[in-house]
Amino acid sequence: MITIIGAGPAGSYLAYLLAKKGKEVTLIEEHKKVGSPVQCTGIVTGSIKKFIKLPDKVIANKCNKVVVVSKNNRIEANVDEIVLWRNKFDEFMANRASDAGVKILTNHKFIGFNGRHAIKIKDKKNDKTKESIVDYVVGADGISSKVSKEAGFEKITKFYYGMQAKVKLKIDTETFETYFSNTNFPEFFGWVVPESEEIVRLGLGTKQNTKDYFHHFLEKRTGKKEVLCWESGIFPIYDPNKIIQKDNIFLIGDAATQGKATTGGGIIPSLKAAKTLCNCIVNKKDYNKQFKKESGKELLLHLKIRNMLNKFSDKDYSYLLNLMNQKRIEKTLKKYDRDRPITLLTNLLLKEPRFLSFSKFLF
Ligand SMILES: Cc1cc2nc3c(=O)[nH]c(=O)nc-3n(C[C@H](O)[C@H](O)[C@H](O)COP(=O)(O)OP(=O)(O)OC[C@H]3O[C@@H](n4cnc5c(N)ncnc54)[C@H](O)[C@@H]3O)c2cc1C
Repeated sequence: MITIIGAGPAGSYLAYLLAKKGKEVTLIEEHKKVGSPVQCTGIVTGSIKKFIKLPDKVIANKCNKVVVVSKNNRIEANVDEIVLWRNKFDEFMANRASDAGVKILTNHKFIGFNGRHAIKIKDKKNDKTKESIVDYVVGADGISSKVSKEAGFEKITKFYYGMQAKVKLKIDTETFETYFSNTNFPEFFGWVVPESEEIVRLGLGTKQNTKDYFHHFLEKRTGKKEVLCWESGIFPIYDPNKIIQKDNIFLIGDAATQGKATTGGGIIPSLKAAKTLCNCIVNKKDYNKQFKKESGKELLLHLKIRNMLNKFSDKDYSYLLNLMNQKRIEKTLKKYDRDRPITLLTNLLLKEPRFLSFSKFLF
């Protein structure tokens, strides 16, 4: 019996994979409805197709161009990106798990352990707490993971605040925008992602003063102060030393800091991690080791690039954009997306050795 806490992308995909392997799986979700509230932009690369075939109903928009803006420069590049309805995507993933035989309990909250093989779950509807006996427990319960806390894993201490809202803005739906500047978007970046011809998801990430930076960006980009709704949250920063398995208790997704530190994107890495963890549970392998083997190098590279970008001045960003604004680089960026960072970086360096000049920021 395997109990997974949290019906986000990581939990639902893992539940589906384990059920397909014949395991008895229960998925616990504290909200009444899977997928709500949304705290995500929902943009993913075409690499998601390696994991699932997306039905049209979960796709809000597709973008084939990105505009990258720095303080003194602006370039365009061709891309292949999908903008998800994140709530419908999560629902679709949970339904697929349910169709594969997973028992899903919504409106139920994980409260704690009673030893390593008994968990306490609160039924929020009638406010009653039940105890279940389990072989394995997986914390797929996001950055504030209760499973992690109650099982004594180390707390996540490095993260970015991501402030995002839906805003009315007429925009070309095929193009999304990213903004880099250490004055207006220090240590992360800003984005405008169209979900329709009338509405965009506008946001940014920072470590502090997030509200001030957000409102400045909102007004500058849209000329407005009003938003339609908020979709803010927190991005954990990948910790290569994080312990993610203790005996029969595992962490996955944001709870395990498994996102890309460059962009904060965690959907595709968590699907990849679900494959790794399924294999580890079924074949009794060491998940701490296996995850590092399969995803560690990629996520570490994202982290190193993030740390390097965080040292950039506005002038460095402009120079980076100049180097990127070449046909051969554009082709490489389209061919190898950011979900294959090692191949992407190797090919970029082969095509433009001047990128190596940024290596001084690694130290
Ligand atoms: C502003 C913002 C924008 C983002 N944009 C993107 C993007 O464009 N592309 C991308 O790839 N990633 C993006 N991300 C990151 C992405 O949202 C996460 O990496 C991803 O959701 C992680 O999935 P998960 O399944 O690990 O956790 P979550 O999606 O957080 O799911 C955790 C689930 O656990 C449930 N839960 C929590 N505690 C309990 C409990 N005690 N009992 C029962 N259930 C519980 C929660 O209700 C939730 O449903 C963004 C994040 C933010 C903050």
